[in-house]
Amino acid sequence: MTQTKLEDIVSLAKRRGFVFQSSEIYGGLAGFYDYGPLGVELANNIKKEWWNTVVKESENIYGVDSAIIQNPKLWEASGHVAGFTDPLVDCKSCGMRHRADHLAKTDSTDLKELAKLLKDKACPHCGKKTLTEPRTYNMMMKTWVGPVEDESSVAYLRPETAGPMFTNYENVRETMRAKLPFGIGQIGKAFRNEISPRDFIFRVRELEQMEMQYFVKPDEQKEVYEQWRKFAWDFLIKRVGIKETNLSWHEHDKDERAHYAAAAHDIYFKFPFGDKELWGTHNRTDFDLSNHAKASGKDLEYFDEESGKKFIPYVIESSVGVGRMFLAVLTDAYTEDEVEGEKRIVLKLKPELAPVKVAVFPLLKNKPELVKKAREVYESLKKEFGAVMWDDNGNIGKRYRRQDEIGTPYCVTIDFDTLDNDTVTVRNRDTTKQERVKISELQEKLS
Ligand code: ATP
Repeated sequence: MTQTKLEDIVSLAKRRGFVFQSSEIYGGLAGFYDYGPLGVELANNIKKEWWNTVVKESENIYGVDSAIIQNPKLWEASGHVAGFTDPLVDCKSCGMRHRADHLAKTDSTDLKELAKLLKDKACPHCGKKTLTEPRTYNMMMKTWVGPVEDESSVAYLRPETAGPMFTNYENVRETMRAKLPFGIGQIGKAFRNEISPRDFIFRVRELEQMEMQYFVKPDEQKEVYEQWRKFAWDFLIKRVGIKETNLSWHEHDKDERAHYAAAAHDIYFKFPFGDKELWGTHNRTDFDLSNHAKASGKDLEYFDEESGKKFIPYVIESSVGVGRMFLAVLTDAYTEDEVEGEKRIVLKLKPELAPVKVAVFPLLKNKPELVKKAREVYESLKKEFGAVMWDDNGNIGKRYRRQDEIGTPYCVTIDFDTLDNDTVTVRNRDTTKQERVKISELQEKLS
C-alpha cells in the first residue's frame, strides 16, 4: 500500500470543509486552524467517544471544565513558568528560529549535546552557517488580566489542561465523596507558543487536549500506569478504528521526559511525515499535588481509612490531542481505490466517527413525486441519526463519490421502484454493494 501524502489530506480537508487555515483571507496565522462544518462534526465525534469511555462509562472518573486562564501561581508551582521550554537556535543572518532538537534529529534536549550536534549545521531557511548556540525558550502564551498592563497583571493561557485538574483535586474528591483510586477528566483548549508549528494540524499553537489524571496510592502507581497504557492502545484500535499496524510504542528516556514525569510512554502514529507522538501516558508521581500543597499552603494529603495513614496521592496521566487524533484518523482512513475502472478517494471512517451517517438522494431532481418521497425518507432518518445529508445534484455515481470522500457509510437512493413498492437502494461505502431495503426496515438496517 502506498503511504498517504500530507498534501492529499490537507487538500481533502480544505476541499470538503474539514479544516481551514485560520483568518485565511488575511493570509492566515501560523499554528492556528479553524474546523469547518464537517471537521467540527468529526472532532466532536472523537471527543464524544473519549468522554463517553473515560468519564461517562466509568464509575470513578469525574469530568470538569476549567478556565483557560488561572491564577499564574498555578503555573509557577507546576514548574511551567521555569521549565516549560524547548531548545531553540536563532539564525543570525535571516532571523529564523528553529527547534534545536528537531534540527539535530535527536530526542535529547541537553543543550551541550545539541551544541555539539549542531556545530557545523546550516540554517535550513537561508542556508548560512550562522546559527546561535542552543538556548531554552519558554512556550507559555502570556496575556494581561485587568486594565493595567504590567508585571503584576501577567497571566498565562494554560499550556495543558492538566494544571486546573490538580488544583480541583480536593474540590472533586470532597463533592463526589471520592475514594482513591479516582480520576478527573477534561477536554479543552491549551496554548503553546511552539517555535515552529508545522505539519498541518499536528503541531499547532492553539490545541485541544483530552486529558485524564488518575489519583492513586503510591504503591499502585506501576500497575495503574500499565493499565492506562493499555487503555490508550485499545481505545485507538477499538473506539477510533485505527489500524494497529500504524501504531507503535516509544518510551521516553530521562532527557526527553517532561520536568514532572518519572516515566513516559508515547503511542506513535505513522503520520505521512513519519512516526510521531499521538498519545502520552505519564507517571507524574506526587509532583503536582506536593508542589501545589507547598505553594498554596493547603493540605492536599489524602487520609486512607484502611491504613490510617496520610499521604499525597500519585498521579497517572493520560493525555492526547484532539487535532492529532483527528489527523491520525484522516490519515488512517484515507484510501484511494478503483470502482468500475474509475479512481475514487474514500475515507474509511468508523461509522461512529463519520460526520455524515447517511446521505439521501432522489434519483432525479425534476420529478416532484420522487423528491417528495425522498424528503419523507430524509426527514425520518434525520430525526433518528441527525447527521443526514441531502444531495440531488448530478448523476448518482458522482453523488456516491462525494459521499465516499467524506466517509459517509451509507447512501440511500429513492427511484421509480420506490413509488411502486416502498423500497430504496442502500449503498455501502466500503464494499460499494447495493441492496434493496423496505423503507419500513430502513432505520433498523442502518442502525
Ligand atoms: P511534542 O513532543 O510533540 O511537542 P509533548 O510531549 O510536548 O508533544 P504533551 O505535553 O505530552 O506533548 O501533550 C500531550 C498531547 O497533546 C500530545 O501527545 C499531543 O497529542 C498533544 N499536543 C501537544 N502539543 C501539541 C501541539 N503543539 N499541537 C497539537 N497537539 C499537541
